Amino acid sequence: MKSIISLVLAGVLASSLVCADNLTEKNVAAANEVIDAALEAHAPGGKLEDLGTLIIEFDRVVYSFGQSRGTEPPWDKSESSGFSAIDLDNSVFVTRTTNSGGGFESHNGTIINADESYQLDYRAGTAAKISEPDLDTASGPFIRVSPPLLVRTLAARRANAYYLGETQIDGVDYDVVGFSMTVGPAISLYFDKDSHLLRRSERIFAGVGLVQYEFLDYETINGIAVNRTFNLFINGDANVEQKNRVAKVDKPLDHLLAVDARLDVIPEVQPDPLSRQEIADGVWLIGGNGTYVMFVDMGDYVFAAGGTAGLPERIDSLREVVGEKPLRYGMLTHHHFDHVMGVGTYEEEGAVLIASAAHEKIVREAAADGEALKLETVADRMTLEGETRSIEIIDIGPTAHTEHLLVAYLPEEQILFEADHFAMPQAGPMPPAVSSTRTFAEALGRKELTARLILSAHSPRAGTMDDLRAALTKEVFQASR
Ligand SMILES: [Zn+2]
Repeated sequence: MKSIISLVLAGVLASSLVCADNLTEKNVAAANEVIDAALEAHAPGGKLEDLGTLIIEFDRVVYSFGQSRGTEPPWDKSESSGFSAIDLDNSVFVTRTTNSGGGFESHNGTIINADESYQLDYRAGTAAKISEPDLDTASGPFIRVSPPLLVRTLAARRANAYYLGETQIDGVDYDVVGFSMTVGPAISLYFDKDSHLLRRSERIFAGVGLVQYEFLDYETINGIAVNRTFNLFINGDANVEQKNRVAKVDKPLDHLLAVDARLDVIPEVQPDPLSRQEIADGVWLIGGNGTYVMFVDMGDYVFAAGGTAGLPERIDSLREVVGEKPLRYGMLTHHHFDHVMGVGTYEEEGAVLIASAAHEKIVREAAADGEALKLETVADRMTLEGETRSIEIIDIGPTAHTEHLLVAYLPEEQILFEADHFAMPQAGPMPPAVSSTRTFAEALGRKELTARLILSAHSPRAGTMDDLRAALTKEVFQASR
């Protein structure tokens, strides 16, 4: 009986599907037409499908929106330079970047090459093997800012591409095709209707908004149109400006796969699930995956320091040891967007937020009801008294990372909690200090603070003053390329 009904239905459907006005058929045909024209425009004669390797050397400026030393524009800039290289036939990807800004200096590399994949830190002089290399995740950012690679990927994944329509921006007509790569949200690609070159692309990120990429100039190398620049905008604000200094098409990249023998091989970074460490009696560091909160049992209430992601799970873990004792205060270290993510959670807990007076506006904006938010601001320092202990909250700014930085300090135990200035590595030797760490150490001296243990918002390990001194005296292995 069932099969008869299915057959009948199939007959009805078959007759209506032939209709030339079917939306999906029209849509897929339009997408294929745009993709074919783009392939020809970016590399005439089917050359894009034969592309073997692409090497791009770049200089990049990043505007630190929400991550600057101050709270208002103009935003601080960080500058980086380096290269990215992909070998499409052999599933190899290599990238290396020197970066400076926001109180941080770095010189890192990644090699994705099957069993010979490494994470490299040229400043610290270390190499860590990557046991499960993920080519798609590692190379995705490079593909998305390189039109030859992006158009090639679109063509290879045309079975999940859709024609989104046509639009006009600043007098230029575009065809827009959407598709998704193996990692990340869907992308809309804007092809100039005249030249069929990719001029812009867009993605929507939950919690962030509209991310736009712009490709204004091209040069032709070995018959392939390669972009000379790319610009990135977040919700319309300029975020990244990149100039491609050198582009090489179909040149070997074997020489980029060798690991400098002078680098110390250190253990691979391990997954770091949520955990709770009791640092001292009634003092816990709870966190995982790069974000940690300090909780202190004050006798009649609990104090928390740190406003990073994942605060609800960290409070759940705290409840296992303190029961229903009220969480009365939540201290925010500074105004950067990843350090005010917990504002809403403290608000729901009914806790009083503690923040630098200079950061009040940003903290209120991060709350569900900013006006009603219970907030105590700190201009220089404040003391919280509990039944069993007291805690000092001190603005130790300015530093190279932020104009104001609150630290929480337990005078009796000499335990200090900070963010973004001194993170103990999960494993391996202490890396050389960056400017943010140097200015943190100077600030501790200025405020005459001695810490037996330093807890950090981004480190699972407590550090000591000796660790801090070791970072300050450690020499940089290689400052730049
Ligand atoms: Zn920060």
